[in-house]
Amino acid sequence: MNETATRVYAEIDLDAVRGNVRALRRRAPRSQVMAVVKADAYGHGAVPCARAALEAGATWLGTATPEEALALRAAGIDAPVMCWLWTPGGPWREAVEAGIDVSVSGMWALDEVRAAARAAGCTARVQLKADTGLGRNGCQPADWAELVGAAVAAQAEGTVSVTGVWSHFACADEPGHPSIALQLNAFRDMLAYAEKEGVAPEVRHIANSPATLTLPESHFDLVRCGLAVYGVSPAPELGTSEQLGLTPAMTLKASVALVKAVPAGHGVSYGHHHVTAQDTHLALIPAGYADGIPRHASGRGPVLLGGKRRTVAGRVAMDQFVVDLGADQVRVGEEAVIFGTGEHGEPTAEDWAEAAGTIAYEIVTRIGGRVPRVYRNG
Ligand SMILES: *Cc1c(COP(=O)(O)O)cnc(C)c1O
Repeated sequence: MNETATRVYAEIDLDAVRGNVRALRRRAPRSQVMAVVKADAYGHGAVPCARAALEAGATWLGTATPEEALALRAAGIDAPVMCWLWTPGGPWREAVEAGIDVSVSGMWALDEVRAAARAAGCTARVQLKADTGLGRNGCQPADWAELVGAAVAAQAEGTVSVTGVWSHFACADEPGHPSIALQLNAFRDMLAYAEKEGVAPEVRHIANSPATLTLPESHFDLVRCGLAVYGVSPAPELGTSEQLGLTPAMTLKASVALVKAVPAGHGVSYGHHHVTAQDTHLALIPAGYADGIPRHASGRGPVLLGGKRRTVAGRVAMDQFVVDLGADQVRVGEEAVIFGTGEHGEPTAEDWAEAAGTIAYEIVTRIGGRVPRVYRNG
């Protein structure tokens, strides 16, 4: 691709992905690393990122949906893959036949996977998910005995092999939050019960990126890392990427589409929420909320342009936003860096999260399908 002719594009540094996986392995030296590549690897591209993560020593891949997991298999990736977000009538048989670990949080799901395994004539790899306090997916402690009992019975009939017992934290990004110790205790109890009943999981896991970075006692056999694989800090309280030893993999760049002189007192973009304070030049950046630039960052989002950090002037529109250059000038076609590693003075995804009142997870994940990904170090 001729990148200089590209309106807006996301450069993905696969060496950064590899380095981040190695950094996470050092943080959890006795555990395997699962690279979570759901939501198209948080906007970075599932297949290239999965391959890079495996090259750097990740031994598992995780997705939310079965379709995401099957897409990895269709791309020829045969590493262990787990997916956890199922609805009734989902592609259980396809997943079972593809050797994908499926997560089960309740009886309806276990019933469907047993039927699929019977139809396929093979044994389904099933991981039982415990709700240790998140209150989202997972099996409540009160329902655990029934689910474990049915899973053990399914193991005896040969339709199911319970390969994992797992859970997920609610507040791992707030170190010291009282729920963390409570969830760890609940996990140990639910795990001990399952093992007593005859479950012998290959992997026991609860840690996401923040827990991997801050809570060694949560590492168990495997850590499930998403955002940290892409080099982004899970929360400002945990430090910047650099402080965490991570390198952001995505740099979002655009070419200036227009530069023009406007007089003082000129309204800029929808609603005229910015009015020029002086005779000035405006630069048009051809990226908007359809590309994932958050409209909530109107008047606040940062961008590196012409060697300086500048701020979005007025509203972010669907396809474009404007920068007021003040006394400066830039050329049409000049590169604007919307976010990146921060190494060269550009803003980071964390900076955009702050400007938009959201989390960095959302900033990278929402970069839209209209934005080409350009891979470096593939
Ligand atoms: C998304 C997700 C992860 C990864 O979380 P990060 O904070 O990005 O590391 C792990 N486990 C589950 C269940 C998830 O949904």
